[in-house]
Amino acid sequence: MTWRHLTRRSVTRQYPDVLPELPPRSRGVIALLEENCTVCMLCARECPDWCIYIDSHKETIPATEPGARDRQRNVLDRFAIDFSLCMYCGICIEACPFDALFWSPEFEYAELDIRDLTHERDRLRDWMWTVPPPPAHDPAAEQPKELATATATVERQAAEARSTAEARSTAEARSTAEARGATDAGSATDADPGSAAKADPPSTEPGSGP
Ligand code: SF4
Ligand code: SF4
Repeated sequence: MTWRHLTRRSVTRQYPDVLPELPPRSRGVIALLEENCTVCMLCARECPDWCIYIDSHKETIPATEPGARDRQRNVLDRFAIDFSLCMYCGICIEACPFDALFWSPEFEYAELDIRDLTHERDRLRDWMWTVPPPPAHDPAAEQPKELATATATVERQAAEARSTAEARSTAEARSTAEARGATDAGSATDADPGSAAKADPPSTEPGSGP
C-alpha cells in the first residue's frame, strides 16, 4: 500500500497558498439582492434551522389618483443569516419567489468570534458581487410560453402594421394616378378646345348617312 502511494503524485492541495478549483455553483455563502426582497418572510419560515432573521415595518404609499386608496408596502429593516447555524441546504434560495437569494462560491469567511458569523444585510449584499452569472440557456430547450406569447403578439402587430402601410401606399398611389389623369385631361382641353371635334368630324358626303 505504501509503495503504491509512493509512486503516485500527491493530491494534497497547499491551501491557502493554492486555492481549490471549485465548481462555479458551489454552496459557499448566501448572497442577498436586497432590491428584490419584498419581506414576504417565506425564506425565514421555510428555513429548518431558523437562522434567518428579518425585521420590517409597513410604509404607507399615498394614492396617486383621486378616489383611490392609499397602499401599504413592507420596508426591510434587518435581514441577517447566522452561518454558525446554517446547514447550507439551500431551501431558503429555492423558496424565495422573488429571486432575492443566491449561492456564492465564496467560502473564506471564517471568524474567531462565532457572533461574527451572523452576516447582516450589508454583508449579504456584498456577497452578490461574487455570485457567478446564470448559465447560458440550452439552445435545444423548449421556448417558455410567456416568450412564445410575446413573440406571437409582436409578429401579429408587425403583420398588421405592414398590411396597414401597404393599404395606405396603394390608396396614395391610386389617388396620385387619378389626380395625374385629371391634370392631363384638363391640359389637353386647354391646349386645343376643338381637338375633340377634329378627331371625329361629322360626315357630309352624300350617301354616307343612314
Ligand atoms: S441554507 Fe438552509 S439552513 Fe441555511 S439559511 Fe437557507 S434554509 Fe436556512
Ligand atoms: S423569501 Fe425572498 S423575498 Fe421573501 S423575505 Fe426571503 S429573501 Fe425576501
